[in-house]
Amino acid sequence: MMENEIPKSPAAPLTEVERATYQWQIWTDGFGEEGQRRLKNSTVLISRCGGLGSVVAYELAAAGVGRLIIAHAGNVKHSDLNRQLLMTYDWLGKPRIETIERRLKELNPRLEIVPLAANLDDELAEKWVPEADLCVGAAPMFQERFAMNDACVRHVKPHVNCAMYDTSATITTFPAGGKPCLRCLTPEVPEHWKREFPVFGATSGTVACMGALEAIKVLAGFGETLEKRVLHFDLRQMAFHEVTLNPREDCKICGK
Ligand SMILES: [Zn+2]
Repeated sequence: MMENEIPKSPAAPLTEVERATYQWQIWTDGFGEEGQRRLKNSTVLISRCGGLGSVVAYELAAAGVGRLIIAHAGNVKHSDLNRQLLMTYDWLGKPRIETIERRLKELNPRLEIVPLAANLDDELAEKWVPEADLCVGAAPMFQERFAMNDACVRHVKPHVNCAMYDTSATITTFPAGGKPCLRCLTPEVPEHWKREFPVFGATSGTVACMGALEAIKVLAGFGETLEKRVLHFDLRQMAFHEVTLNPREDCKICGK
């Protein structure tokens, strides 16, 4: 693990309410109060808050991450409601980012949220990635994932990438500065990728929970992350396997 992946021990101690709220996870071996203080003093940028990002954001809000920067455009539609768990029926036709903020605050009023009613592009990534300690890629479009990845390499930020299609999913964690980065895994937009895809909320939620835990481990500095490993699984058969991901020397973003 690179030195700059582990945040400095923050000065702010936990309050009594925080100690009571997070007691059961503070008992986790290797995490403890120091891990909880690190989460409290961390900022995570989440690109899209749909089937994947809603669950990542909810788990990170529940775990006590101090600040979330969330990028998600558009208004709530009926077809969001099978998986985008921060969207609600009463918010149909209204901005998604508003219900995202409202629901996260209902769970954790201490959480600071930077709501961006837009999807990530190069300009937004350049502005907000430097503000984050870690980024989570949960967008359906590769252009958004690449914008996050490329900015994470430039600004030396770790990056968790969650993706799914039908009942299958993929997850990996890229170290700060890349080597490898997302472009080592997928250099360009795959030819046949389309915007809409089959999905159960239980599938996107499964990989999203794994992504949230990867973020928690990197931020708190415990456990073993999926760095240089890509985990694939298909929940249709409950089949899991992983492959090693080495950096590409010719990667146009992290290579040289
Ligand atoms: Zn790369």
